[in-house]
Amino acid sequence: MALDLVQNPKGNWISLRILEGLFSLNEASLRSRGLRQFLWALIKVELFWVGGKCQHSGHCCQKVQIFLKGTQIESPGEWEASMSKNKGSLARFQPVMAGSGQIRHFNCSCLTPDMTCSAYETRPQFCKAYPFSNFVSEIPLYEKCGYHITWTQLKLRSKNRRLRRLVRRIELIYKP
Ligand code: SF4
Ligand code: SF4
Repeated sequence: MALDLVQNPKGNWISLRILEGLFSLNEASLRSRGLRQFLWALIKVELFWVGGKCQHSGHCCQKVQIFLKGTQIESPGEWEASMSKNKGSLARFQPVMAGSGQIRHFNCSCLTPDMTCSAYETRPQFCKAYPFSNFVSEIPLYEKCGYHITWTQLKLRSKNRRLRRLVRRIELIYKP
């Protein structure tokens, strides 16, 4: 379950124009992947923000999808490796297998019948960071979540095709 987040729904147009310029410059000269990702992360929060409020529906605690470092845990091997590194915080999750032998989702033993977390203070980082973590990793939010991704008051002016594709991707994932 999420913390209530404070973001800037207006965006900062000066920052956005500078970042757009730097993005185009990188594409035209350096073509550094790391710099591109860094600039895109900054541009994204000027164009979009996480709006809404937690309705305490508990949906994000049911059929949990676990992403560690941006990668979804889908196979038993990945799960075992993650468990050995993060035993304390992950022990509460039980994988539910799909017919394919892959992990469909996880059940959390800390979810109470009234949809609250019985171990709120010690919940894993990805629980604390939801929904912002999903936005950062460009993962859809849970269905019927009280949060949504929406536009700030700014629009992209850059004609850079790669940057436009990245923005389009966010539009397709979140339909802001
Ligand atoms: S640890 Fe708590 S917040 Fe995280 S999924 Fe389980 S019940 Fe939800
Ligand atoms: S799915 Fe969204 S609204 Fe529901 S408990 Fe989680 S953060 Fe709150």
